[in-house]
Amino acid sequence: MLDVKEIRRHFSIYESEKKLCYLDSAASALKLKESNEALNKYLEHNGTNVHRGVYKLSYEATLAYEETREVVANFLNAKTEEIVYTRGATEALNMTALLYGMKYLNEGDEVISSELEHHSSLMPWLKVATLKKAKMQYVPLASDSRITVENFKKVLSKKTKVVCLTHVSNVLGYITPIKEIIKLAHEVGAVVVVDGAQGAPHLKVDVKDLDCDFYCFSAHKLCGPTGVGILYGKKSILDNLDPLYYGGDMADQVYLDKMTYKDTPYKFEAGTMMIGEVIALKEAILFLEKVGLENIQKHEEYLKDLALKELKQIPNVIIYNENVETGIIAFNIKNTHPHDAASVYDKNNVCLRAGHHCALPVIRHLQCVGTLRASFYLYNDEEDVKKFVEATKEAAKFFEIFM
Ligand code: PLP
Repeated sequence: MLDVKEIRRHFSIYESEKKLCYLDSAASALKLKESNEALNKYLEHNGTNVHRGVYKLSYEATLAYEETREVVANFLNAKTEEIVYTRGATEALNMTALLYGMKYLNEGDEVISSELEHHSSLMPWLKVATLKKAKMQYVPLASDSRITVENFKKVLSKKTKVVCLTHVSNVLGYITPIKEIIKLAHEVGAVVVVDGAQGAPHLKVDVKDLDCDFYCFSAHKLCGPTGVGILYGKKSILDNLDPLYYGGDMADQVYLDKMTYKDTPYKFEAGTMMIGEVIALKEAILFLEKVGLENIQKHEEYLKDLALKELKQIPNVIIYNENVETGIIAFNIKNTHPHDAASVYDKNNVCLRAGHHCALPVIRHLQCVGTLRASFYLYNDEEDVKKFVEATKEAAKFFEIFM
């Protein structure tokens, strides 16, 4: 168990919301005090642009902005040139499809995705594959709705040019055996895009060890600010891609009939970026590293096990991922719409998610209208599990008339 009392000292919300039981970190994590302070400091005491000003304040903003790149690179075991700032995982994933897919996909090529994907992973590739007359292939999910290596092999072929899969499912919490999948994909010459939105906040990620070609995530799911995300790409691949946006800061030379751009990663960062948010991201990552990603992962698993053990005893609770290995529990109250059930949790100050989680294909696969989802993170404790279990008992009892 982590020292949750100590950890909560770094989250101001626990001072203002004394009864808070926050179990919706898979949607967005609570925001770290030090990260908020870094953002505020930039806004209140700097506020200048980066890479442009030839005065002290702008130079300091640039240094802080670039320091985050080093921290992110170290976090992923990447090179700083391979770290591109984006507005979130969604933008990063779209960039992989719009930049790589539009350039390299041809008619008849195949893109492997899965029913487990978040819309932000699936939709960009579905769009680009359609435009380029390439074919989407979906890994058949195993009986417990996981992606397995065995099933991945069923859709992998010489025609596969791109594989885009989630590292951890935001609906079912399963960890994709991504390292083995990447190895197999590379054997047929395909590139692999990893949707790390639920991976980076909870697992120790080493992009060199995984050997993925792209890895995408958002700051707000790892206790940092909204509006900033990361696109990791292998330098050799990024160097050969065109920018997505054109304009300020990314240009090298501009004439009326031709233009050149800066090198990777700066050519992908056009216009004034979200400077304060980038600076704030550094604090969030340093904090998670200090606590230790392995410790966080163990802590979430411990709380999930405790909760699952209790949940299994409650009549009329349907659990969709009993053998999940991360801190996400997907469930429903029998014959009850998840939104209706969610009102009971809200009444008890338990914040959890109800709905389709921006992943409609897997909701259809589970043959339900949506699920309830409780997700644990480093600031949750056994008391949260207790409140969650009590609220579930109350909801199951309240909706008993529909059974
Ligand atoms: N991929 C997964 C697995 C997610 O859970 C999310 C967010 O819920 C995203 C992508 C998109 O992240 P963002 O909304 O931060 O761009």
